[in-house]
Amino acid sequence: MKHNFSAGPSILSQYTIKKVVEGVQNFAGTGLSVMEVSHRSKEFVAVMDEAQALFKELLNIPEGYHVLFLGGGASMQFAMVPMNLMRSKSAYLNTGAWAAKALKEAKLYGEVVEVASSKDATYNYIPKGYSVPEDADYFHITTNNTIYGTEIKEDIDCNIPLIADMSSDIFSRRVDVSKYGIIYGGAQKNLAPAGVTFVIIREDILGKVDRSIPTLLDYRTHIDKGSMFNTPPVLPIFAALQTLHWLKDMGGVEAMNKINVEKAALLYDEIERNKLFKGTVVNKEDRSIMNVCWVMEDAYAAYEKEFLEFATGKGMVGIKGHRSVGGFRASTYNALPKESVEALISVMQEFETAKV
Ligand SMILES: *Cc1c(COP(=O)(O)O)cnc(C)c1O
Repeated sequence: MKHNFSAGPSILSQYTIKKVVEGVQNFAGTGLSVMEVSHRSKEFVAVMDEAQALFKELLNIPEGYHVLFLGGGASMQFAMVPMNLMRSKSAYLNTGAWAAKALKEAKLYGEVVEVASSKDATYNYIPKGYSVPEDADYFHITTNNTIYGTEIKEDIDCNIPLIADMSSDIFSRRVDVSKYGIIYGGAQKNLAPAGVTFVIIREDILGKVDRSIPTLLDYRTHIDKGSMFNTPPVLPIFAALQTLHWLKDMGGVEAMNKINVEKAALLYDEIERNKLFKGTVVNKEDRSIMNVCWVMEDAYAAYEKEFLEFATGKGMVGIKGHRSVGGFRASTYNALPKESVEALISVMQEFETAKV
């Protein structure tokens, strides 16, 4: 039995996997694979329409917003956001390597204000008490910092369009979409296999820049064509739809959040209790419910590799921390069952019994 804690690509619900297998073999009764039919066939258009509708339903997306499914990953959004929105100045909160990459792209298009950064402490906290320049064209945040295990769990108030990279926490909690201009993310953390990027966008923030934007990188192209300007990533979109069905069956984002909070609390409590380990994110309110990071206590640092091997031998997959943080990281995305967290905790306790 494997317990998949991978940070991304990562665990998907068994329902998603089963339904994708079925669709790969015989899509919507066509006798053909979802991979070999036209994206303009009525069967696939129905997939696209339903995926957009379920996004709107599950996240309670208000009027005036569109849901797009694009290629290029979250990383392409780092460039599309400034290209489409930045007249002369933008503001960024630097909470991690992904946030820093987004900020770097924006610099190609004008002045970028870094309103605050936690880089000096390996991004192990979320900066607070910063001020956002009112004359910036937008403010960009990364709500969940996948590598460091910090998370902004509340929708912040902002007087200029708020743009959020929610690659690794979309659908993990309720979001007040009306507070955002754009929410985007790669699907491979909490939704679908790699290859599709979701973009939730308020149309009225567009059309304010003078620069020419390549057709494919212009959000308006994809709004006008319903994400069908060119061939969309059909298989990942089909998989995303299955996850959305599963999420709805599970009771939606609020039910999911309840389970996620519970799973993360179990693990954080064990890290605190266990003599071998310590968490890397000290402020409780900054701790991510999606990526839990910890290291060995100094006195037991020499056991790091051995614990990793021990845990791997017991079926724990993907718990090695990112190289910039070291130690361990357990990603507890929506599809990860509570039993997997319990299994990891048992392994931590077993190792403690053997060593302390
Ligand atoms: C994984 C990740 C990205 C990068 O996504 P790609 O789809 O690989 O470009 C960006 N932001 C965050 C927060 C991530 O976790």
